[in-house]
Amino acid sequence: MDNLRNLYQAVIMDHYHNPHNKGLKGYPKMHLKNPACGDDITIEAEVQDGVIKHINHQGNGCSICCASASMLCLLMEGKSVSFAKKEISKFYDLVQGKDGDYDSLGDANSLAGVAKFPARIRCATISWKALEMVLEGDVDEEKEI
Ligand code: ZN
Repeated sequence: MDNLRNLYQAVIMDHYHNPHNKGLKGYPKMHLKNPACGDDITIEAEVQDGVIKHINHQGNGCSICCASASMLCLLMEGKSVSFAKKEISKFYDLVQGKDGDYDSLGDANSLAGVAKFPARIRCATISWKALEMVLEGDVDEEKEI
């Protein structure tokens, strides 16, 4: 069990130190802040024909927030909007500790441990929430969650 936990921590720290898709390119975006932790993150996505062609993130936050944004981008790039919406809702279940089949979430499975730390759940979900809002057409605003 300890080895598994170490493995998960290594995945989180790898995304934190070597984030995927970092840096905005000017696509439709949503900027969210989590004042409880100081997380401040923007997710942008370009959707064409129901497919997320590009997705990037930018911002500052704790290791969980930044790693989660990187995992989100890695998972969603090139995928359909319907896949994305399904995986976002699965991820919310995962971090709340609900039972389920989460294999398709890939590296994001490493964040399952935040279920034991309710104050950190928002750190993990903030970027996923931002993408959800972009996909709903709720863009170019700044909000606190
Ligand atoms: Zn945080």
